Amino acid sequence: MEAAVAATEALSLAAYRDDVAGCTRCPLAKGRTQVVFGSGSPAADLMFVGEAPGFHEDKQGVPFVGAAGQLLGKLLAGVGMTREEVFVANVLKCRPPGNRDPQPEEIEACEPHLWKQIELIRPKVIATLGNFATKLLSGKPLGITRVHGVEQEVVLGGNRVVLYPLFHPAAALYTPRMLEVLEADFRRLPALLGAAAAPPAPVVELVPPPAAAPEPVQLGLF
Ligand code: URA
Repeated sequence: MEAAVAATEALSLAAYRDDVAGCTRCPLAKGRTQVVFGSGSPAADLMFVGEAPGFHEDKQGVPFVGAAGQLLGKLLAGVGMTREEVFVANVLKCRPPGNRDPQPEEIEACEPHLWKQIELIRPKVIATLGNFATKLLSGKPLGITRVHGVEQEVVLGGNRVVLYPLFHPAAALYTPRMLEVLEADFRRLPALLGAAAAPPAPVVELVPPPAAAPEPVQLGLF
């Protein structure tokens, strides 16, 4: 991405972050230490969307800083990437009490923030971590066990993006088989990013082949 374009995007994402810092769209505002907006590059090609901040994220204001975040960092390092070059966010920007599941009204209240982030960052690939992000961004009720590792092209925030569901790292922490699957799904990320960055194949017009020219009639010489 051109430096000037990236700088403008950084500005508008930073401005949006300031707006969201005082959000009172749902009751979670009352119990939070701070809004956990997201972290990473404002011009990232790859964005991760998790579920909601936990205890440590609420205290530090950064998503995925606990044990699941350590694993996310390791998985990224395994494919030669860093947290700084991707953008990491959550469906909910405020911590639900006791880390309970997000409620439908909270998701509904918070989702405009996620759509706006996607619109400003314009990632090429969005990896959804776990059920909540996958169902919200795919708009389908299919669970992560069925759809992990299966990419699909969708339009989000006005842009075409490859949606790539993954198991949530917190779930993989305690289930070795799930970790293996998550690692295998992660290994496909560089290829997905490469394919998403490639210019779309030109439209080839199918022209019917010219009708075969009639065989020249060999005139008899004699
Ligand atoms: N789990 C999430 O889904 N998000 C975080 O930020 C941390 C743990």
